[in-house]
Amino acid sequence: RAKQEGRNTYRLFRAEMHRQDHRRLALETALRNTAETGEGLAVHYQPLFDRDSGTLQGAEALLRWHPFEFGPVSPGDFIPLAERSGLILPLGERLMQLVAAQLRDWRTAGLTPPPIAINLSARQFWQGDLVDRVKALYREYDLPPGQIGFELTESILLDKHQQAVGTLEALRSLGCRLAIDDFGTGYSSLSYLQELPVTTLKIDRSFIQGLGENRGSAAIVAAVTGLAKELGLRVVAEGVETEAQRQALSRYHVNLIQGFLTGRPVDAATFARDYLSQLKA
Ligand code: C2E
Ligand code: MG
Ligand code: MG
Ligand code: MG
Repeated sequence: RAKQEGRNTYRLFRAEMHRQDHRRLALETALRNTAETGEGLAVHYQPLFDRDSGTLQGAEALLRWHPFEFGPVSPGDFIPLAERSGLILPLGERLMQLVAAQLRDWRTAGLTPPPIAINLSARQFWQGDLVDRVKALYREYDLPPGQIGFELTESILLDKHQQAVGTLEALRSLGCRLAIDDFGTGYSSLSYLQELPVTTLKIDRSFIQGLGENRGSAAIVAAVTGLAKELGLRVVAEGVETEAQRQALSRYHVNLIQGFLTGRPVDAATFARDYLSQLKA
């Protein structure tokens, strides 16, 4: 009987695996289609505010995907798939074009958008012609220096350190702000940090959310912000959801706040209406 049950469990397990494989395959096919046509792809923008003055200092561009065949798929699901399949390259290129075109349109309409940060995954960063692509983007859309910046994770910068520094320096020379995303969750040696020409550290939201809850998070926030201050880096607290968290951050070297408390990611029209029009004349 036990044996029989075991076999049934195994069969169920196989069926479930099969179902998941099938979904993954269908998603990948849809994603390939999207990479080719751009259909179902959109960009949302989440504002970043100066902690003390409350002024708008920037925004992060976040990819949204709503394929025709499925409901909306979250970045947590499709970004890893895009990375594994290599589709992140054409998708990332589309995102850059969408953001740059949006910035040009806003500027043409007399609005003054703040710097917009684009997330780069490893494959994009290590693409040989990244810097040339970014240069071309600035030129094609007539963007002022620094209008577009980038966010990278620690793990990208860990290997091939010297080459990473070269690429970062080239991007800096275009005025791009460069942030290390989800800081504290990776394995970067702290001594690397002083050699990296980055401008900003973004403390991962797990530490922000742990602030009131456990001492470990507070210790990490204290250490990271202390280090950033010594190195002259700006600090973004990401994932700030409550007033209590914002209060707790006031004792640390934190320059910028990003999170649901101050503003969720919104589509371009909403972003312009809620955050850009007041800047107009
Ligand atoms: P990330 O770069 O760390 O982006 C921040 C994520 O946290 C976003 O999730 C954002 O919606 C979410 N978030 C912001 N404030 C809060 C908050 O107060 N509470 C909570 N619970 N969440 C908050 P999203 O848009 O689902 O993106 C997830 C991840 O997918 C991003 O993490 C980034 O790693 C990746 N991603 C998104 N767009 C792109 C892209 O265009 N290219 C690449 N390579 N990766 C992207
Ligand atoms: Mg990011
Ligand atoms: Mg982040
Ligand atoms: Mg994060």
